[in-house]
Amino acid sequence: MHNNKFFILITIITFLFFYTCSTPTLAVAAVNSYDKYIISAKLNVEKLEIQANETIYYTNRHDLGFNELYLHIYPNAPSFKSLGGSIEIRKISIDGKEAKFIVTGEDRTILKIFLPTPLLPSSSIKIEISFKVKIPIKEDRFGYYAGVFALAHWYPIMAVYDERGWNLDPYWDAGESFYFECAYYNITFSVPEGYVMAATGRLDEIKKKAGEWIYKWYTPLPVREFAAAVSKNYEVVSGEASVGRRKVKVYSYYLLGHEVAGEIALNTAIKSIEFYSKYYGEYAYSEFRVVEVYGWFGGMEYPMFVMITSSLYSPQRKTILELVVAHETAHNWWYGMVGNHEGLEPIMDEPFAEYSDTLYFKWVYGEKKFEEIFDLTVRRPYYRFLKIRDKDYPIAWSVFDFGADSQAYFTIVYNKGAMVLRMLNWLMGDAKYFELMHRLQEKYRFKICKLRDFKVEAERVYGASLDWFFNSWVYGSGVPHYSVEAYAKQTGLTYTLHLKVKNAGDPVIALVPVRINTRLTSITVTLWVNGTQGEKEVSLPFEPLTVQVDPNDIVPGEDDNKPVPVKLNIMKAPSVDVALLITIILLSLVDFAGIKKIENRGHKGRK
Ligand SMILES: [Zn+2]
Repeated sequence: MHNNKFFILITIITFLFFYTCSTPTLAVAAVNSYDKYIISAKLNVEKLEIQANETIYYTNRHDLGFNELYLHIYPNAPSFKSLGGSIEIRKISIDGKEAKFIVTGEDRTILKIFLPTPLLPSSSIKIEISFKVKIPIKEDRFGYYAGVFALAHWYPIMAVYDERGWNLDPYWDAGESFYFECAYYNITFSVPEGYVMAATGRLDEIKKKAGEWIYKWYTPLPVREFAAAVSKNYEVVSGEASVGRRKVKVYSYYLLGHEVAGEIALNTAIKSIEFYSKYYGEYAYSEFRVVEVYGWFGGMEYPMFVMITSSLYSPQRKTILELVVAHETAHNWWYGMVGNHEGLEPIMDEPFAEYSDTLYFKWVYGEKKFEEIFDLTVRRPYYRFLKIRDKDYPIAWSVFDFGADSQAYFTIVYNKGAMVLRMLNWLMGDAKYFELMHRLQEKYRFKICKLRDFKVEAERVYGASLDWFFNSWVYGSGVPHYSVEAYAKQTGLTYTLHLKVKNAGDPVIALVPVRINTRLTSITVTLWVNGTQGEKEVSLPFEPLTVQVDPNDIVPGEDDNKPVPVKLNIMKAPSVDVALLITIILLSLVDFAGIKKIENRGHKGRK
């Protein structure tokens, strides 16, 4: 009896352990496929300091040995340093033995550790780092301002080794140069009593001691990095997002007085998670936090956690608040679960997030609102830029290619990037486009998806080469300017419409939609414009009255897209109404004759 009870107890404990440690819809990733970070930290709110001890279990997954390792130490970046930020590395041990290190990199944000013995392929080591961080007074993703600590990029994080070698790019203020592998995190973070902490991960527990609250965060599934925000002024509301058969707990942290906006942020995050899960693939994690901070930006993306700037927390700014929350939440799919080098290939996250935040409006409010938001936040800014600059750039450019020209970076990568994705969506159709999104999320989840991988997957789903698309619209630049001419001739009841689309802009290749308006309806056909001109003949049962090139502005570039009258032959064919009338008369005569015949036969029979 006693043993039985014990057995049942063990069974229940085992079940609970595996149940709580696994996500029902996702296979749990093998732990040794990812590195692990264990950090114990204490925030000193008076001194604006974090004292921390970090342990990283790092595995060499490459086919060459390493004599040294590299980590990013972003608090040293000049934009933080100038306002009091820094990181002091006090001691480093490798597998328990003290190791030498230097702080290097063009902006002093690289930590180079000299290994006592080479780290061979498939070998793992334990790196222990003791460090102290000074938090700058700055409205930023890393900084203290008006009672809020925004704590991203505060701890040493492994640089990525790939075909480029070690990726040691400097910190980038406008945009991101971040590039991390997913890892597991266990964070113990001490704050003064009464301080509220929001962060990446699952909140395991808050140990409340006199004068000190200790938050314990962990990640049952790999995340790309760990970020947090701390304030004693935070209020919290929460809700649930339905993802498949699971519920995701969503929390919104806002500052006192911002209740309405805090609620808007919560609801937007919930709807975003539900829609992106449906259209892209399930949100992998069980929790999500949307958090108000002070930033010069609109928002900033982190895994399971997004920062939204305080100035948007006003009911009057509801639409822009929704837009930014939807954008940053989308980054959990694009940069978070499916990763990229945000500096080298911002195309692999920003256009996806930007297009997603407009699609959010389609899915929540309908087509009309989507068109309005897309025009206002994506198309107009790009066209304004083209007018002012008279220059276009490839959306595949890196943040480093754009350099100090952050306006060009944001306009080209975000706005033009979203227009190009929308064009791809139109080209493939919804079914294939969202199949592609699902495919990327499945194949590259917790991994890195490069632009070339995206092209391979896009072509696989589309079923044809997309060289022309990527060469013209992704790797290349240039803006077309289309106009259309059309003439028709009538043969019997059929109209043969000849369409000619001229491109007075840059000679890019595109499949261009042309709308044909008849008296009763309109149809859209597509034709190839390769360079300066494209032509097509279309047979129609109705008289075409006017034609419009790219009426919904799918192909980036402003066109002469007002309806253009169709020129008919000199011998004007009868209009559709006359033709219709003749047809009706003829048919009724035939019909009448038929009935007469049957009647006659009937009469004959009766006779
Ligand atoms: Zn973004």
